[in-house]
Amino acid sequence: MRLFSHKRRPAFLGPYPLERLPRTDTLPDYQRSQLESLHPQTTQVKFEDPARPYAVSNAMTAYMDLFNQIRDGDVAPDKAPIPDDLALRAQNLKGSCYFVDASMVGMCQIPEAARLDTARALHDHTHAVAILIEYTRDPKPGEPGEEWIHGTQAARAAVRAAEVACLLAGYIRRLGFAARAHTATATELDFDTILLASGLGEVNVSNAKTRITNPYLGNRFGMASVSTTMAVASDKPLAPRNGPTKWRTHGPGWWLGVGGATPGWKLLAGKDRPLHMGPYPMEKITRVKETTTVIDADNVPRVPKRAEFFYRAAMGDLGKRPQQEMVQARFAAKHPFANAMQPLMGGMVPLQFGHEAEEKAAGTEDPRKNSEAIKALCYYMGGDMVGVCEAAAYTWYSHNRDGEPIEPYHKYAIPILVDQGYETMEGASGDDWISGAQSFRAYTRSSLIAGVVAEHLRRLGYSARTHTVVEQDVLHIPLILLAGLGELSRIGELVLNPFVGPRFKSVVITTDMPLTVDQPIDFGLQDFCSKCLKCARECPVQAISYGEKIMFNGYEMWKPDVEKCTTYRVTNGAGSACGRCMKTCPYNIEGILAERAFLWAAIKLPFTRETIAKLDDALGNGRINPIKKWWFDIEIIDGKVVEAKRTNKRQLQFGRQMNAKQQKTAVFPADMNPPPGQKEPFLVDREEGRRRAEQAEAPEDYRASHQVAPTP
Ligand code: SF4
Ligand code: SF4
Repeated sequence: MRLFSHKRRPAFLGPYPLERLPRTDTLPDYQRSQLESLHPQTTQVKFEDPARPYAVSNAMTAYMDLFNQIRDGDVAPDKAPIPDDLALRAQNLKGSCYFVDASMVGMCQIPEAARLDTARALHDHTHAVAILIEYTRDPKPGEPGEEWIHGTQAARAAVRAAEVACLLAGYIRRLGFAARAHTATATELDFDTILLASGLGEVNVSNAKTRITNPYLGNRFGMASVSTTMAVASDKPLAPRNGPTKWRTHGPGWWLGVGGATPGWKLLAGKDRPLHMGPYPMEKITRVKETTTVIDADNVPRVPKRAEFFYRAAMGDLGKRPQQEMVQARFAAKHPFANAMQPLMGGMVPLQFGHEAEEKAAGTEDPRKNSEAIKALCYYMGGDMVGVCEAAAYTWYSHNRDGEPIEPYHKYAIPILVDQGYETMEGASGDDWISGAQSFRAYTRSSLIAGVVAEHLRRLGYSARTHTVVEQDVLHIPLILLAGLGELSRIGELVLNPFVGPRFKSVVITTDMPLTVDQPIDFGLQDFCSKCLKCARECPVQAISYGEKIMFNGYEMWKPDVEKCTTYRVTNGAGSACGRCMKTCPYNIEGILAERAFLWAAIKLPFTRETIAKLDDALGNGRINPIKKWWFDIEIIDGKVVEAKRTNKRQLQFGRQMNAKQQKTAVFPADMNPPPGQKEPFLVDREEGRRRAEQAEAPEDYRASHQVAPTP
């Protein structure tokens, strides 16, 4: 949590105040022989550790190998219509890296000294991007997860940096320039020289030893780089800091985080908070026995994967245009940055599964210890919120896409939420060109986090697999509810968390490792959403209910019109996909101290909720903040990147009338689903869907007429 907002801080500056550091024109010289290699990121990172088979770095090996395989690739034949201005290009590339959670980014012309002997193939690469990922807090001895995490910071930072570098290199290649990612285990560049040249490292001489450190991170970071033929504005090397400069870079302004940069006190914060409790105070939210919206578990029909609406669009159930967009893989991936994420997301699918070790690791018999250690591990890898629940039968799809039945095969589920990022959301309309990339960003990261953790569980001797947006056998929404990570919101088929709001994507691990489960939560959202309606007002196609909750497939919910929503997201012609409901929700907050007061009032003082919703609107929250825009409005058409003809630039629609009776909503209960595995189009019957919406049962009536068993 920060004291100062970063709303006026451009996204391309990144979280740390690098702009305050003094610079020089001269690349510092240093004697390599004197360099004490305190940078494990400079290619000395160890992943496989036979001496410590239960160190989580072992489970990262396959991911590092994957990233190394895709670090280079084909270059688009045509140059994209991006600005010639080198500064704008640099801002775009930096914004891209910060969007995917780089801690620091710097750019330079590649010094000859940085080219290793193997760099001959890079003769035409002129510029390099340095990407740093900071370490997290080290676990204390005996802390849950410590045994698995200890000694793996360098590997974690290296694999995360490699992920960012591969994404950036893929993006640049789609813009028509050659680009290659360099990772801690596969590089043709000398990272130390790149660090110095890009202004992210300084020569540090103490006790007759020379080290290269970062002014804010010391040596607690991992690194990757991207070399490219794209010319960009370079950052200057760092100048020595002394006297008054130190006051500017490490004085009270830095310590407090003035201007919205990462405050110095963050380095000390959270040292005593156990890792498994995560970064947000979820322990302060009321736990309840049952979800705040009815789940009639005995009467929730299991549904086939064929019924999933994006898949229905791909199969032609929603008509020709949505089908074309899906089949041509445009939809969310038509912006080149989102498009660059596809090889990573697809490449990680085979790593979702695997055989468990024959023997169970000693010390993994205690369910409570296991749950805590797994949560610590998920947070360490970058999860924002983690819970555990039983994977009840109704939370599993009934049939795979080929129509073969799915039998639930694991007892427990571990849903993990990954924030889609406040800053980019702040600069976007929610349905402009970056929207699809916002989803993909969280999906890519969550696949990596869950994939590593599931592989780790298998190495401990337990069956485990990941369920990602690309390949999954479980439905995430009920699991997130049951694991106490949020409540169902008016947006409908979307769970809202009190701290990251609706702004997340999820991934689930299922396993048979013995675990203790969490309980659902109640933070007053049902009441808040009954008084708010902002998402419904702002939805471009009015797919979100203006009216009351209904019962749908055994769930109590504000049922959205999924056909309208899916069709809009898939065919959006002035952007890619849509998340405008998420963007405009009052719970889409930055996370600064001042907002916490309103958040606690909304949770603890029901009478304030209506006022808070109105105040959020009156303050103009949900508008586009142009300072945060770092991306170009471009799209891929027929394999070529072109300038987008139209871009959604929506502002808040204060005057929109919301009449529930006139809202022509359709719902499609389970008995209207296509048969499992059907390969031909199964057209959506909208007229019947409208009729079903009108006939839908109110939750109160349902409760009166059914014996609703408590949720498991
Ligand atoms: Fe409406 Fe877009 Fe949200 Fe769908 S994603 S409900 S279309 S705002
Ligand atoms: Fe609920 Fe308002 Fe957010 Fe919609 S915008 S989910 S009604 S809090």
